Amino acid sequence: QAKITGRNRHHFFDADLDEQVRTHHNRRTEVRAAVRANELVLYYQPKLDMRKGRIVGMEALLRWNHPLRGIVGPMDFLPIVEHTDVIVDIGEWVLREALRQLQSWRAFDTDWVISVNIAARHFQRHDFVERLKMILAEFPEVPPHMLELEILESSALSDISHVRSIMLDCQALGISFALDDFGTGYSSMSYLKRLPADILKIDQSFVRNMLVDRDDLHLVSAVIGLARSFGLGVIAEGVETIEHGAMLMRLGCDLVQGYGVARPMPADEVLSWVASFDTAKVWQAAASLPPI
Ligand code: C2E
Ligand code: MG
Ligand code: MG
Ligand code: MG
Repeated sequence: QAKITGRNRHHFFDADLDEQVRTHHNRRTEVRAAVRANELVLYYQPKLDMRKGRIVGMEALLRWNHPLRGIVGPMDFLPIVEHTDVIVDIGEWVLREALRQLQSWRAFDTDWVISVNIAARHFQRHDFVERLKMILAEFPEVPPHMLELEILESSALSDISHVRSIMLDCQALGISFALDDFGTGYSSMSYLKRLPADILKIDQSFVRNMLVDRDDLHLVSAVIGLARSFGLGVIAEGVETIEHGAMLMRLGCDLVQGYGVARPMPADEVLSWVASFDTAKVWQAAASLPPI
């Protein structure tokens, strides 16, 4: 009896696995087709300089406008292809689309930097810099210093000296680098020493709880201090309330991004959102907080 159950279970497990593999394969094919069918879109989330009271940049965030499911977030489809070359096609599409969008915004007198997230596999390709140069050349009105690449520190896990040399080549063109989700990796400190980053992006998990959890507050404060002593810029993500913004400003982090400023939005909503955005309330909240 036990044997039969065991065998049955084994049998069912195999069927499951088989189906999982098939589903995974189908989903990968589906994502690949979405790229060709032009179903990918970029949303944009502003970066606010609280001290200057100005929007200084936009981060491009990928969405899949699925014909049946509607708008699908990147975590629901990028992981399916991030270890295949589909991620390279997607990454190059994102770069072109973001640069094209920035070029058209520049006609409206904006001086925003555009931030693009780059997957590790894409970034580490031997021809990354060559192809990036070609893409930039398609947008002669966008100077390379208006492009910022966001990479995860885990991007550098495999071959740090290779990653370092890619970063230096890009920086020679004028491109800057932010270390995204900073503090969540295992070796932030040693990477900081070896990677020529320009900006640290404090992970939203620390920011979210920093007003209620003193450990997170200390972490946020430590990353800001780290950025200062290394001479780097620092931005906080996941800033959901004005109180968060006010605390960050007090800690010395002027740049913020998060739902408290704006949710990521479609490109055609950006200009009217910026025109109606009121920074005065941020200042008021900052002024009314007690000193820490
Ligand atoms: P990320 O680069 O760290 O982006 C921040 C994520 O947090 C975004 O999710 C954004 O919508 C969300 N977010 C922003 N402000 C807040 C806030 O105040 N509260 C909360 N709860 N969330 C906030 P999204 O758009 O789903 O992107 C998730 C991740 O997917 C990104 O994390 C990035 O790692 C990756 N990603 C997005 N677009 C691309 C892309 O074009 N290429 C690649 N390779 N990865 C991308
Ligand atoms: Mg990012
Ligand atoms: Mg992040
Ligand atoms: Mg993230």
